[in-house]
Amino acid sequence: MTPAARSTVTLEGHFARDFAELAVPWQAEQAPDPRLLVLNEPLAAELGLDPSYLRGSDGLLLLVGNLVPNGATPVAQAYAGHQFGSFAPRLGDGRALLLGEIVDAAGHLRDVHLKGSGRTPFARGGDGLAVVGPMLREYIVSEAMHAMGIPTTRSLAVIATGRSVRRESLQPGAVLTRVAGSHLRVGSFQYARTTGDVDLLRSLADHAISRHYSGAASAEHPYVALFQAVIAAQASLVAQWMLVGFVHGVMNTDNMTISGETIDYGPCAFMDAFDPAAVYSSIDEAGRYAYGNQPVMAEWNLTRLAEALLPLFHDDQEQAVALAEEFLAAFRGQYSAAWAAGMKTKLGLRNDVDDEVAAPLLVELPTLLKVGRIDHTSFFRSLGSAARGHAEPVRSMFMDPVAFDAWAQRWSALGPDAEVMDRVNPAYIPRNHLVEEALASASGGDLYPLERLLSAVTDPFNERSGLERYACAAPEDFGTYRTFCGT
Ligand code: AMP
Ligand code: MG
Repeated sequence: MTPAARSTVTLEGHFARDFAELAVPWQAEQAPDPRLLVLNEPLAAELGLDPSYLRGSDGLLLLVGNLVPNGATPVAQAYAGHQFGSFAPRLGDGRALLLGEIVDAAGHLRDVHLKGSGRTPFARGGDGLAVVGPMLREYIVSEAMHAMGIPTTRSLAVIATGRSVRRESLQPGAVLTRVAGSHLRVGSFQYARTTGDVDLLRSLADHAISRHYSGAASAEHPYVALFQAVIAAQASLVAQWMLVGFVHGVMNTDNMTISGETIDYGPCAFMDAFDPAAVYSSIDEAGRYAYGNQPVMAEWNLTRLAEALLPLFHDDQEQAVALAEEFLAAFRGQYSAAWAAGMKTKLGLRNDVDDEVAAPLLVELPTLLKVGRIDHTSFFRSLGSAARGHAEPVRSMFMDPVAFDAWAQRWSALGPDAEVMDRVNPAYIPRNHLVEEALASASGGDLYPLERLLSAVTDPFNERSGLERYACAAPEDFGTYRTFCGT
């Protein structure tokens, strides 16, 4: 490979420099004919990058990794991971590169990362590539999550590479330029642990502390404080997923961040009709990562993180395990508290409504929604109208409204605040049928439906005329939705 040209944009190379054991210097494959499909201008501004530069020819080369930023050493990151419960000791970025870190306008370090930039030493049997549809999908869903206030990696751009990629058929190739607080995963720590090098594990933990949980550095036991902070971040994150009906679809430990950001939008989907057993991924036959299982799987993954961190908790293995168990026990309470607080807000219940009074309403609601097969997003948004006295839209979602009426009467008596509800219950989410429509059009060269969908879901609480169809449930003929991994 000839060395890639350098750009005028400057990045830091902290991870590449400090973690040679976890970072293989590598170059992106040449994109034969890069063409910008979508650029996130607000995010570019946050990063101090000039959108007009990014739209120009050098900018496009930068966004696909063919022009290397000053100071950057692009690397493929090593990580391990439990995939559907089985441990894979060496996964790593098979088709991705960390370009480096950028200091954003707020002074924080953010990773700039490429997905679909060609084979790396971690590619195993994969082609190292990505195609337009799934990369736009990650762009849409991650930006929708961000707009709903849910921690997530961000999408800066999707560039069509001009290369055809073989999937079931030949498809247009693409690179997603992704931005994250970091790409440290539970699997990064699992990888460091399997090397047997405790100093490496400790350095990685110090790095995680400095990037995400600086308060832990001054704690009596910094690594315990780090672990507790990750537990808290994940309890909060998964509660937020549950509150908006998000199904991640592939919660392997390599797809769970240390920062508490949602990562790797492969086979994810938003639930339409409420169902704890909702699964969309074609490969998740046992429903391991079903909607209702996500809190349990998060706790399972955190247990794997605890195993990786044990040598840092205590020199004595037995005492380290006892400590880990004690900290892990906090997850359930934290998750439940975050979910209940979030659900109270979704129902517009004021803080001074006693939890004992609210709890039965919260507990009974999932059963009502499941039995009625009620559209999750529409229900909560319409319930806001009910709080304003227009109960019929939400009531009419129930074929048999008797049980709902009884529930709604008790809820209504608590004086729900419709404005609070409208600030947390999105009118627009990336509904599966709308995402598919936008991707099919974009793959055929028409970007207009993608732009419309993005404008809806990036301002999700602000209902606007002209966007009515973006707030509606899927048409009946949309059928059973299936998503695919390894895309
Ligand atoms: P994911 O399920 O997307 O989180 O990926 C799991 C692992 O497979 C990671 O190590 C990825 O880098 C790798 N991978 C996924 N797709 C490809 C591909 N097309 N080529 C090479 N590696 C891939
Ligand atoms: Mg992944």
